[in-house]
Amino acid sequence: MDLAERYRSVQERISKAATNSGRTTDSINLIVVTKNHPAQMVIDLAALGQLEFGENRDQEASQKAAEVAKVFPSAHWHFVGQLQTNKVKSVLRYASTIHSIDRPSLVRELAKQLENQDAQVDGFIELNLTSDENRGGVSEANLKALTEEVLSVPRITLLGVMAVAGLGEDPESEFEKARQLSEVVRQLAPSATALSMGMSEDFEVAIAMGATHIRVGSAITGPREYSA
Ligand SMILES: *Cc1c(COP(=O)(O)O)cnc(C)c1O
Repeated sequence: MDLAERYRSVQERISKAATNSGRTTDSINLIVVTKNHPAQMVIDLAALGQLEFGENRDQEASQKAAEVAKVFPSAHWHFVGQLQTNKVKSVLRYASTIHSIDRPSLVRELAKQLENQDAQVDGFIELNLTSDENRGGVSEANLKALTEEVLSVPRITLLGVMAVAGLGEDPESEFEKARQLSEVVRQLAPSATALSMGMSEDFEVAIAMGATHIRVGSAITGPREYSA
């Protein structure tokens, strides 16, 4: 299959999964994660009508976003990886949405740089569904406080929560956990109903569990080539 065929095939699978859950295809936002692939692939996907893209490393993403903007200025970038505070300034220049808000220091840096750039950003609070503190995402214990911190920054529009199913875990129970934790956020921010969950291996399960934003990479882009 070539890129266009893989893209169409994933779109069909999304439609089917939506229909099976009594949802409309429109209620699911597909973000194509293009990390480790060249700007040209993003341009090819944009030519097929795809305008939402995800990246997880600033250095790669900032260059790619600049190249793509010359051809498709309407492309939107979602930052989905762990975000170091010293990268915030750069990321905010191209990203319209941050999926990985996971600690107060990051919220404070976002607030500062958004103020400097007189800008606004959409955000998801990333949940850590594991007991491993070193993983990205906020623990359940700190979720309420972090939500309050995000809500104190009017320049961040909180859309909802983001989660990655743990390796070797059952995605259905992982996404159920995310959905439950999302209620903690919604008690403080009733409009933050979005759920960013589901990747190539599990997006159909995620859709069945209520995902509104799915982040699909390799099922569309093909395998990533990692340089060591
Ligand atoms: C790479 C990545 C994805 C996409 O992964 P695939 O398995 O290739 O679909 C989604 N979310 C995050 C946070 C990622 O880093």
